[in-house]
Amino acid sequence: MYISRVKMKNFRNISPVSLSFQPSLVVLQGGNAQGKTNFLEALYLVSRGISPRSQKDEELVRWGSEAASVAIRVESGGTWFNREVRVQLGKKKVWLNNGHPITKKRWQEEVWLVGYFPRDIGIIEGSPSERRHFVDEALSYVKPSHRAYVKRYERALAQRNILLREHARGDLISVYTEELIKTGTCIIENRIRYGELLTPYLRDFYRCLGGENVRFEVQYIGGGYDSKGDLRANLERAFLRSENEERSREITLVGPHRDDILFLLEGKEFRIYGSQGEKKSLALSLKMAEMAVIRKVKNSKVIVLLDDLFSELDPKRRQLLFKEILGKGQVFITVTDDIPQMPEGWEEYLVLGVQGGRISTAGEREKKNG
Ligand code: ATP
Ligand code: MG
Repeated sequence: MYISRVKMKNFRNISPVSLSFQPSLVVLQGGNAQGKTNFLEALYLVSRGISPRSQKDEELVRWGSEAASVAIRVESGGTWFNREVRVQLGKKKVWLNNGHPITKKRWQEEVWLVGYFPRDIGIIEGSPSERRHFVDEALSYVKPSHRAYVKRYERALAQRNILLREHARGDLISVYTEELIKTGTCIIENRIRYGELLTPYLRDFYRCLGGENVRFEVQYIGGGYDSKGDLRANLERAFLRSENEERSREITLVGPHRDDILFLLEGKEFRIYGSQGEKKSLALSLKMAEMAVIRKVKNSKVIVLLDDLFSELDPKRRQLLFKEILGKGQVFITVTDDIPQMPEGWEEYLVLGVQGGRISTAGEREKKNG
């Protein structure tokens, strides 16, 4: 699977552009604030249905314009399909599959893509909600029913919190407690199972980037309940236990909306003790593990976006990382400076210049060195 064509119009600062790609490596080269991240964001949005950095559609539209669009052609197993997103100010986003408007849920084919962006370090050092968001997004991508559970849970949670604030009768509240226990159990089970799938890859990638002999662990921490054993029974017990406190604080204190994931290096929490470099390596390893899980579960190549990363890896780590992803899918990277020496096997690539939002293949250098 790879992106063979892309067309963008008024997406952030990117000038209207139409490009073709090979299944290998694409290097976006340009100074700061020229549009490199915007370009990758557009690919991420049209492929996965969400922006990696923005919740607000209007931010995606070029200042002074009314609408933006991103269209890609994806080649997969000898066939292709087109996917497009149109963002219009004041309206809902429109998704098109081979030119026909569809709802996101009815995508015929998935575009398998993962992206690493500098802000992903927030998954490691930010609040528990960022870690939950990462897991729920990665999980819903390969198992869409998970998103439906999360939405149902969020709706019930909001209702229950309203009732707690209004000091409603216990029997009214318990209807929502039951719904939280039911959907919550599914959410937690899914997350734990996904964690079990992800962790071996995460450990391998982290060791590859961060050091061979490190003791690395991941722990799933239940929000106010015990996440081991019979989850349903544990949640029921925890709700009973916290009833009085929930009534006095007027908020739901138990459940997967308060879970956390701890990453431990030599028994110490990364979030608190890790260096910037260690956290960055872990965030990157998470994304690479997400890629490995997709490959395994969906038996497909995965497109990889790596923003602002390449120049920060020393040649040894670059070699190790790129050895891992060689031949496993198309890769887009961004660089601000000269293109560093490419790792073995990656000597052929397409360079796109990015300047003031203009993407040029002029003086295109489809390089072959080595
Ligand atoms: P860096 O190397 O610093 O990461 P970059 O090339 O990745 O730079 P981008 O993050 O892509 O830069 O941003 C390029 C420019 O796009 C920024 O100067 C930003 O102000 C501008 N920009 C962001 N949103 C919009 C928008 N909706 N309309 C027009 N310009 C925008
Ligand atoms: Mg950038």
